[in-house]
Amino acid sequence: MRKMMIAGNWKMHNDNAQAQQLANQIKIKTTAETNVEIVVCPTFTALSVVNDILKGSHVILGAQNMFWEAQGAYTGEISASMLKSCGVRYVILGHSERRQYFGETDETVNKRLRAVLENGLKAIVCVGETLEEREAGRAREVIDRQINGAFAGIDAAAFSAIVVAYEPVWAIGTGKTASPEQAQEIHAHLRQRIEERYGADTASALRILYGGSVKPANARELLSQPDLDGALVGGACLKAETFVPIIQTAGELSA
Ligand code: PEP
Repeated sequence: MRKMMIAGNWKMHNDNAQAQQLANQIKIKTTAETNVEIVVCPTFTALSVVNDILKGSHVILGAQNMFWEAQGAYTGEISASMLKSCGVRYVILGHSERRQYFGETDETVNKRLRAVLENGLKAIVCVGETLEEREAGRAREVIDRQINGAFAGIDAAAFSAIVVAYEPVWAIGTGKTASPEQAQEIHAHLRQRIEERYGADTASALRILYGGSVKPANARELLSQPDLDGALVGGACLKAETFVPIIQTAGELSA
């Protein structure tokens, strides 16, 4: 059985004092939620202080991006060993905001993914179509292209360190959520594609998260879908009062 994951993407929010406070609240309020994998992904600058807070808890530290080179003249970038030295275990890759504002492509997602895996880290690989692509009936085609690109040269064994997040771009930060049926349809499609390429065992073990305006009010019906194995949460993860109930819902559904 796949363990549910609830991951919080803090994006460019929270200075160090705010980050410490939020991490502490999440840690304290989720001690009983041992059947859910909880990940928080602060900004790079807050990783160390959040790591200090999370020590001894089961909340896992993640980062929002990573560069593929080990070191060198790459101003503004951050390497795997730097993230590992801050206690990071998961890295979000290919978030639509990285694709939209920072020129991320399927090819660069693949380079980052290879570096994540070579360095013993785990990846949350984001895919998702825009509204225009969905309305043109191209959602599946776009997602196929994104996974083919991201997973080029990646073998089945690597999937134990990979989580996929389906995040329709039109649902991120917009308050518009994919209906449970829309989300389930794409999740089932993604699992099918992974099965065709990597086999049934890899596909059935792969966790596929949904992301896009997940909040306490819609978490239950989304997470009840058979191919939804958790959520990548943006806006609602910035307050313990809205993040923790999503984790609790995942816990109840896993019991
Ligand atoms: C995200 O940024 O990954 C996300 C899903 O954001 P939100 O929950 O705010 O839509």
